[in-house]
Amino acid sequence: MKIAIIGSGYVGLVTGTCFAELGNDIICVDIDKEKIDKLNKGIIPIYEPGLEELVKRNKKEGRLAFTADLKDAIKKSDVIFICVGTPPRENGEADLSHVEAVARIIAEAMDSYKLIVEKSTVPVETGEKVAAAIKAYNKHKVDFDVVSNPEFLREGSAVNDFMNPDRIVVGANSKKAIDIMKKLYEPLKAHVLVTDIKSAEIIKHASNSFLAAKISFINAIANICEKTGADVEKVAEGMGYDKRIGKAFLNAGIGYGGFCFPKDAEAFIRIAEKNGYDFKLLKEVQEVNKKQRELFIRKIEKALWVLKNKTIGVLGLAFKPNTDDMRFAPSIDIINALQKEGAKIRAYDAEAMEKAKKIFSDITYCKDAYEAASGADALVILTEWNEFKELDLKKIKGLLKNPLIIDGRNIYEPEIMKKEGFKYISIGR
Ligand code: NAD
Repeated sequence: MKIAIIGSGYVGLVTGTCFAELGNDIICVDIDKEKIDKLNKGIIPIYEPGLEELVKRNKKEGRLAFTADLKDAIKKSDVIFICVGTPPRENGEADLSHVEAVARIIAEAMDSYKLIVEKSTVPVETGEKVAAAIKAYNKHKVDFDVVSNPEFLREGSAVNDFMNPDRIVVGANSKKAIDIMKKLYEPLKAHVLVTDIKSAEIIKHASNSFLAAKISFINAIANICEKTGADVEKVAEGMGYDKRIGKAFLNAGIGYGGFCFPKDAEAFIRIAEKNGYDFKLLKEVQEVNKKQRELFIRKIEKALWVLKNKTIGVLGLAFKPNTDDMRFAPSIDIINALQKEGAKIRAYDAEAMEKAKKIFSDITYCKDAYEAASGADALVILTEWNEFKELDLKKIKGLLKNPLIIDGRNIYEPEIMKKEGFKYISIGR
């Protein structure tokens, strides 16, 4: 099939590349010319395991192209995926201006039947509004369908998630559109759930909010464990064996960040509000998440007493491992708070330092974890990169001014850390 992907970020680039890998002809479009130039030169603007190799191969074999010319891409394609960003507005609602802008250009450019696929995460009823906008600006009066096809991939394992989805959700109200979508996804041999458009839109917000709730739930439990002397890791394990609960997303820590959970939960609260429902449960999920960072900052302050002129080594900046994405990363609030108190930061992240440099100018970026620990009064772990789990702890101890580790991701065993001679502070243990 001939497909245009509008928005070549974390979702669009992975979606386009994977559909090319499945044998389709793909044009990835972006408004950001610099991004398109890089992609045309074979430079991948994001870090995502396995993506670079797939982009290069499919580009070389002529199934994947990159352009900033949206109209041309629309004319050449039968299916158009909208993968632009839907960032939060100041009031927490999703900013749909990019989606709206794209819808209008599609309407003006399309000169034959097009299937327009909403893949960006959007509030319920956006599909209707996209269809209405396209109808209003439909210059050549051609037929079209709009479907909702929310994306569930996780950054850090996006290619694998796209190729092996738990389910594919298609919200549609036309048989023609459903048939095209089923054909497109057929090679993945995954379960395709067909719903109405609004239900598909809500499935995405409900899923992300539910996962965020699991994280906040175990963080609330971690706080009770700390007060009572229980071990949240054991509690989570004991809960997770129950098939009704499951082990995933029961990791206590400094809470969720990234471009999905915080903004999607906030947007869902606003959607509920607009529809007359006070989603108190989800508000509390967000509140627990916010508090979790504050509690972690208090832990650092308590352990170091005065922060002014103390040097803190920070391991991990990205919002989670295996990505370079810094959007809404807990590290931002935590480092800002420590700097406000006068602490000096030496930081290392395996992939996110280039993006972090646009956020923090006044921290020392280090070449590895050992350099970050060197001469520091404490080492703070903010992202659970695998390489941090395998550190030479004797070497770390020798480099630190004070053998203090404050671990926001529970990557070490307290018993081992004690034996190694560290003062080790973690979450819920
Ligand atoms: P992103 O910021 O990485 O990518 C969006 C891209 O759209 C950018 O490159 C931007 O330049 C481009 N763009 C904006 N306006 C445009 C226009 N008018 N024409 C062409 N390109 C335009 O964002 P992302 O992380 O890929 O997220 C995209 C959507 O997918 C969001 O709605 C997000 O909530 C959702 N989503 C994200 C993830 C994730 O893990 N990142 C997972 C599932 C769903």
